[in-house]
Amino acid sequence: TAPARPDDCVFCKIVAGDLPADVVHSDETCVAFRDLNPQAPTHVLVVPRSHYANAAELAAGEPASVAALVDAGAAVAAADGLDQGYRLIFNTGAAAGQTVFHAHLHVLGGRSLGEGLV
Ligand code: 5GP
Ligand code: ZN
Repeated sequence: TAPARPDDCVFCKIVAGDLPADVVHSDETCVAFRDLNPQAPTHVLVVPRSHYANAAELAAGEPASVAALVDAGAAVAAADGLDQGYRLIFNTGAAAGQTVFHAHLHVLGGRSLGEGLV
């Protein structure tokens, strides 16, 4: 079973509909919405409905949900016309730049992202 929802988690609030977001995809496993501070023309966050602190904990607790997030990311990319490709990122831990400790998959595209990872 998923950990309890912390009452201060912004992504739990978006999933619950208690905080507005530009939702572009929603299914039984996840919700996808546009990032408030986009780093590319398409910058969407795909979050599991269950609260896990990061992708590794999600993979341990609900492995099928990791595939569901990637599938949703692909659907969002297709809907935004990203036929030249897109980037999927899970920041995991503060040193990686994770600031919201509810697992989320970044979907980035719509500009040249280059060959580097950062
Ligand atoms: P992280 O750095 O944790 O991997 O990414 C968190 C992302 O969430 C950031 O890109 C940030 O702009 C975005 N973000 C933080 N709070 C909100 C919010 O309330 N709404 C939306 N749409 N995005 C948010
Ligand atoms: Zn949460």
